[in-house]
Amino acid sequence: MHEWSLAQAIVESITEAVNKKNSKRVKSLEVEIGSLAMLDKDIIVEAIKILSEGTKLEGAEIKVHEEETKFRCKKCGKIWSFSEVKEELEKNWEDTKIKDEYGTQDLSIHYFPELVFTMMSCPSCGSKDFEILGSKEITIRNVVIEV
Ligand SMILES: [Zn+2]
Repeated sequence: MHEWSLAQAIVESITEAVNKKNSKRVKSLEVEIGSLAMLDKDIIVEAIKILSEGTKLEGAEIKVHEEETKFRCKKCGKIWSFSEVKEELEKNWEDTKIKDEYGTQDLSIHYFPELVFTMMSCPSCGSKDFEILGSKEITIRNVVIEV
């Protein structure tokens, strides 16, 4: 699952930073997930917990916040949120599935947030020239360590 690979990346990068500083352990960590990636908060927390066993992250308090992903049109300046367009996008997702001998592969935004650029356009002027505001997938916001 996608959540697991992201959790793995978080555990690895924090472990690396903590080892570099020679800190004893991580007391708490805070991550922010963008609504665009449609990640499951509970799975993220569970995955970080399990993957941090035996590392300096073990036993740390894990906080996960979800942030509404917003977009800004570079042409007309319109700002809109992912939840406003999600339903419309979901209708088009069927087209992004690839069928091969391993079954159906879901190439959704869940795995590739960049896909949103091909699937969406400005709800106001129709331009495809827009930018993502805030975190696309997952961002480490705060790590408290014990030295
Ligand atoms: Zn626009």
